Amino acid sequence: MTNKSKPIIKHLDFSEEKLNEVKKIRTSKFSPQRKKERVRRLIGVGPCCICGSLPNLVVTSEVGDKEQSMIRNEFFCQTCYETEQNRAKEGSLYYDCIKSEFTPE
Ligand SMILES: [Zn+2]
Repeated sequence: MTNKSKPIIKHLDFSEEKLNEVKKIRTSKFSPQRKKERVRRLIGVGPCCICGSLPNLVVTSEVGDKEQSMIRNEFFCQTCYETEQNRAKEGSLYYDCIKSEFTPE
């Protein structure tokens, strides 16, 4: 029995309005911490987990074992996702997710 299902990739689309709001927050005088929080609240999802910028897609995968399976959502921008895909082809199996907060700029 295998419990490794294929990850589901979904593209994220943000309205022009939201993107403008993000831009406004990033160019504002708020502290970096406030900026991160505001961006997260505005778009409602996490940042690209590699570079911390706005994500373009979400990869949903099932992790864990048969006793306890968990759904993991990882967000990527297009650039980082492609980089990771190339790495995966070269034999690295895991995404190098390190960011959980938006970069302030
Ligand atoms: Zn990225």
